[in-house]
Amino acid sequence: MTFRVTVLTLYPEMFPGPLGLSIAGRALREERWTLETVQIRDFATDRHRSVDDTPAGGGAGMVLRADVLAAAVDSVADTRPVLAMTPRGAPLTQARVRALAAGEGATILCGRFEGFDERLFEARAIEPVSIGDYVLSGGEMGALVLLDACVRLLPGVMGAASSGDEESFESGLLEYPQYTRPVEWEGRTIPEVLRSGDHARIAAWRKQMAETDTRLRRPDLWERHGGAAGLSPSGARRDKDGPR
Ligand code: SAH
Repeated sequence: MTFRVTVLTLYPEMFPGPLGLSIAGRALREERWTLETVQIRDFATDRHRSVDDTPAGGGAGMVLRADVLAAAVDSVADTRPVLAMTPRGAPLTQARVRALAAGEGATILCGRFEGFDERLFEARAIEPVSIGDYVLSGGEMGALVLLDACVRLLPGVMGAASSGDEESFESGLLEYPQYTRPVEWEGRTIPEVLRSGDHARIAAWRKQMAETDTRLRRPDLWERHGGAAGLSPSGARRDKDGPR
């Protein structure tokens, strides 16, 4: 099944952009996914082709009109989920990316200016999605990020080896640190355990590193993962055996 993507945007020239290169680009040429853009301005109805107007209640900038956006969304109506890029949405997660990649595709609405007239979300089934707690100038880069994350998971896009059960977030933890040759670089060697050939020891070391790094770098993830419960039954032991 081909993963079908439609992007609604004021800047269709931004697509496929970086997704035309490397892994995603090859997958696009192999038609493992398809990409279509829709120019939101084509759905403007007045003679100035306006898509935005001043914010109700005052304030800076312009707001995208609900009527114009709804007409654009309705023009692609099918069974795929419709997502809108907005910092007011639920932060994107690897779990959501996996679910999307397992489906038939997505329609993605990209905002600009001060964003969307809120009534759009009341009148249509649209999922607001954020790519993080910072503000971009437009939804296009967010859509590119979301699509890159989805496309690499499509069947046949990455080698089987890298399909990545152990990757960051897949287990609720960051991935363990990686090393490659040369064995010695600027006086630093690759950890001995990784050169031991002892697969059980390597697995145990990686698990411990993933846990330690997650706890130190991403206490929020660690908390959600179950924190101490994931490491040892008694919280006390964990502190003694903590990071070196
Ligand atoms: N005034 C809005 C921000 C508008 S930024 C607010 O404060 O919430 C303009 C557009 O960029 C948004 O409509 C959205 O499509 C996109 N955008 C900005 N930050 C984003 C983020 N973190 N995730 C997803 N899209 C974002």
